[in-house]
Amino acid sequence: MDFTISDEARETADGVLGFIRRYVEPIEKEHAELLGDERAQYDNRGLLMPDVLKLKTQVRMAAAEAGFYTMFGHEALGGGGLGELSLVHIQEELNRVCGPSRVLIHENVIPSVFTNGLSPILLQLEQSVRDKYVAGIASGEKTLCFGLSESGAGSDVQRIRTRAVRDGDEWVINGSKQWISNAPYADYCILFAVTDPELNSQRRGGITAFFVDTSSEGFDCSSVIPILGHVGSRIGIVNVDNLRVPHDHIIGEVDEGLKLALLGISKGRLSMSAMCVGLARWALGMAVDYAQQRETFGSKIGEHQAIQIKLAEMAMDIYASKSALVRTAWLVEQKQRAIKETSMTKAMCTEMLSRVTDTAMQVHGAMGLTNELRLEEAWRHARTLRIPDGTSEIQRRTIAGRLLSGDSEL
Ligand SMILES: Cc1cc2nc3c(=O)[nH]c(=O)nc-3n(C[C@H](O)[C@H](O)[C@H](O)COP(=O)(O)OP(=O)(O)OC[C@H]3O[C@@H](n4cnc5c(N)ncnc54)[C@H](O)[C@@H]3O)c2cc1C
Repeated sequence: MDFTISDEARETADGVLGFIRRYVEPIEKEHAELLGDERAQYDNRGLLMPDVLKLKTQVRMAAAEAGFYTMFGHEALGGGGLGELSLVHIQEELNRVCGPSRVLIHENVIPSVFTNGLSPILLQLEQSVRDKYVAGIASGEKTLCFGLSESGAGSDVQRIRTRAVRDGDEWVINGSKQWISNAPYADYCILFAVTDPELNSQRRGGITAFFVDTSSEGFDCSSVIPILGHVGSRIGIVNVDNLRVPHDHIIGEVDEGLKLALLGISKGRLSMSAMCVGLARWALGMAVDYAQQRETFGSKIGEHQAIQIKLAEMAMDIYASKSALVRTAWLVEQKQRAIKETSMTKAMCTEMLSRVTDTAMQVHGAMGLTNELRLEEAWRHARTLRIPDGTSEIQRRTIAGRLLSGDSEL
């Protein structure tokens, strides 16, 4: 096994951080009032204001021009083709240095590599359709969303009820999707619908993925779901009402849509896990700094053993998760399926981040609770990550399923 981080990955991470310093931070400074206050960023329905969306597009397009936004995309889509070890290093560095949830940075400098940007799912589009849409996505001008979950179907995706019926050269789709990231702002949606109820009820397929232009008649995403204390949201409810989609906009094969969800899932989960390791290191860095400054009972709090143990345990937790992450990234880069390893890594890293951010807040005392330090923002973000992309329970279900079917190598 060779986990060496290549010079290319190191230089690219430095390039990304340099781009953020030179290009994004001056914009953040110029628009500090807007970007520093959620109440200014969202309208009264919880939707992002046009000025914020414009700035996000500006950063995305500059990141795409610099080659960062597309660097993990497949070469056949015009991406840079960087592998998983590079992905986890760069994503960790970005989050370690930048901290949590900066409106212009997260999702704009590097997209979520599976559900937005040059997703590997786009490789399954018919060539003529790909030619029509991919350039706009690669340039950062257009964005995507991934419309699978519904109010009655999350972990158990076979239970979706959105229905597509063929009508000549088109499909007519009706139904509703919930919890769809970026849906209110996306130009295109990868929309999943039942095309064969019989197969679907037998859990043998029967679900098809469609590439949908969100400006089409019958597609609506005007309501969002704010979560965890935010005043607005990126997560939307999509309603489709007699939406007509051309047959050639089917992604992959009819009735085989759920297989697409497996195409880039390991890359997506690795990317999320690397974000967790980076944010945890950011939080630990804050805790170590504070422990060296804050004094109680005549000494720095870092001299109290109770605080030292917290710092040590945070480091142990991060080190274990990072080790698992890098090993799994290596396995995936070697073209191994690494199903249980990816699930273990996603569960370990997201759960580790919840513990580490919580402890970092404790080390800071009341200061840890302030909005100013943004530790509470990282902690809230950590709490969300144990649900999407497979909950912690579903990851354990996958791991146990693999063990029980003979995949016991560790
Ligand atoms: C921030 C965020 C962003 C999201 N973005 C998207 C998106 O872009 N596109 C999209 O399609 N979806 C998205 N989702 C939806 C997400 O995929 C689902 O919320 C997730 O799969 C869980 O489904 P659920 O919420 O319906 O919970 P349920 O499936 O109803 O589960 C409820 C509880 O039961 C547990 N559970 C369920 N089944 C089992 C089992 N077999 N064994 C043990 N425990 C079980 C779960 O772990 C959970 O604790 C997003 C969700 C969030 C929170």
